[in-house]
Amino acid sequence: MKRRSFLKTGGLVAIAQCTGMSTLSALSSLGNSLAPSPRMPVMFIGHGNPMNAIEDNEFSRSWQAMGKSLPRPQAILSVSAHWLTDTTQVTAMAHPKTIHDFGGFPKKLFEAQYPAPGSPEFAKLTQKLVTSSHVQTDESWGLDHGTWSVLLPMYPAADIPVFQLGIVYNQPPSYHYEIGKQLSALREKGVLIIGSGNLVHNLGKVDWSGGNKVYDWAQEFDSKFTNWIDKGDHASILNYQKLLGSTAELAHPTYDHLLPLFYILGLQQKNEKITYFNDKFDMGSISMRSMLIK
Ligand code: ZN
Repeated sequence: MKRRSFLKTGGLVAIAQCTGMSTLSALSSLGNSLAPSPRMPVMFIGHGNPMNAIEDNEFSRSWQAMGKSLPRPQAILSVSAHWLTDTTQVTAMAHPKTIHDFGGFPKKLFEAQYPAPGSPEFAKLTQKLVTSSHVQTDESWGLDHGTWSVLLPMYPAADIPVFQLGIVYNQPPSYHYEIGKQLSALREKGVLIIGSGNLVHNLGKVDWSGGNKVYDWAQEFDSKFTNWIDKGDHASILNYQKLLGSTAELAHPTYDHLLPLFYILGLQQKNEKITYFNDKFDMGSISMRSMLIK
């Protein structure tokens, strides 16, 4: 943030504290790029195979359709399964680099770039909104494939600022869910918040045969979670490891790809509806089930 803007923010916060106004309402007086907007939806996206970024298939086509049908965001905040951090962090650079955080894929995928600008301004606001954890700003990450593989089909012009929130892996579901809740004000500022992971994700059990096989435990996990989501039973969702036991362990031998979902469900407001898309399995053990909440 420029010095002048920073001083302006500091002044507003000081006034807010003197007058009893909330910090948030003071922040709402910030410059034009942070102007109020109609509340943006939130999304959980099953990103699956990184090749979806450059292949024309049913998954990438539905991402394209989303980009065309949603109100245009002022910025995009991505909570990606591929940025695991020791502390809660938010990217704050003006020009995030495209990170090719995978191996063994065709050259064409390594050449793909997503040169969207960052948003130091929204990063600062995110830092202030999250009160349950100290959020540090980061200048070294960028956009990992959990973010850009989805955004390349969705917003191919790469002209909307994108910033990321890091996930502290060893924290319980409730930790992530609470941070999600605290990000809610960003939606009113035109920020599209995307959680990018997979509802079921077991790479060790991937079926390479090209058939339509889906493991029973994968189907069970997907169905149980969807049922809880439909009923708004977030208490069961946050307690999923106990309730689903060995099924949960098979669905997520490591649960990095599930964690972004807790942020998105924390952002769901009462009376908001969920629409599912790409609700099918890829290679037997990857649920591509995605959801739009608005
Ligand atoms: Zn992934």
